[in-house]
Amino acid sequence: MRIFVTGGAGYIGSICVEQMLNAGHQITVFDNFSEGHRAAIDPRAWLEEGDLLDAQRLKDALAASQSDAVMHFAANALVGESMVNPTKYFRNNVTGGMHLLEAMVSCGVKKIVFSSTCATFGTPERVPIDETLPQKPINPYGESKLIFEQMLRWYDVIHGIKHVALRYFNAAGATERFGEDHRIETHLIPNILKVALGQKESVSIFGTDYPTPDGTCIRDYIHILDLAQAHMLALGSKESAKYNLGTGGGTSVREVIAACEKVTGRPIRVVEEPRRPGDPARLIAASDRIHAELGWKPQFESIDAIISSAWAWHLKHPTGYGD
Ligand code: UDP
Repeated sequence: MRIFVTGGAGYIGSICVEQMLNAGHQITVFDNFSEGHRAAIDPRAWLEEGDLLDAQRLKDALAASQSDAVMHFAANALVGESMVNPTKYFRNNVTGGMHLLEAMVSCGVKKIVFSSTCATFGTPERVPIDETLPQKPINPYGESKLIFEQMLRWYDVIHGIKHVALRYFNAAGATERFGEDHRIETHLIPNILKVALGQKESVSIFGTDYPTPDGTCIRDYIHILDLAQAHMLALGSKESAKYNLGTGGGTSVREVIAACEKVTGRPIRVVEEPRRPGDPARLIAASDRIHAELGWKPQFESIDAIISSAWAWHLKHPTGYGD
């Protein structure tokens, strides 16, 4: 298939692009490099540089690509930043997303796979989180993604654009060539690995008084290659659907740190700090629906394997993409 990938220079987008190229698809990457990196674009992909907010440029790029489907990764994705600057999140994630849907209508593209998030659920009533739980975001980031999910429904009803929304839990890990390099790194695993590399003195643990066995937050870390596999299965799905995507396992912050010490063989200095606003205690996915309907099953279920792949990439790219 010919696929138009917004945000194909970002962490998750770049690796999905690599895997789709390996599977024989033709890819056009649309990216404004506000978060992504030029070196993260697989050289086999075609690049259209542009911004989702420039509706005409986006429409022209989509038309030129003659794509059969869109994968929409481009977004702002930091909870904390969204609590300070909600406009940025509604502008880029909602208005930018709407431009993309308009461009799809105008070009007759009838399929979209959307990067959604477990943040659309807010603080869940129970874990694991399945698709029947109410979506009640507790920050503008989650709200912006939920609004786009809801818009997708109407573009299906009115324009026949089929969607698959994948609500990621905590994406982690790397392939040999592509990995995680955010300009401002807020994520747990890369921050721990920076300590192992000697680039940071210590890693903070945000909150040690959560109602969990060791007092730290529990997350469902999913390998980026398993996410990529879900995207490829979603491309083949004929019906619109929304799926939660995780391994179903939970790992606490302290357990992640211990696993990083084991994998790297290096001690990690920690500093205990107060809770980070907007962090629910436990987020674990129930992914039975995507397993039943698309046959998806994660291949990397151990946190050690996920961290090992990230560590191998960081050792090879100590300054990330270097830009
Ligand atoms: N976390 C932490 N120290 C850090 C970064 C994150 O203790 O330097 C915690 C964070 O509070 C959360 C978990 O690790 O409970 C995962 O955070 P991350 O930012 O990686 O992903 P999120 O769950 O926010 O998408």
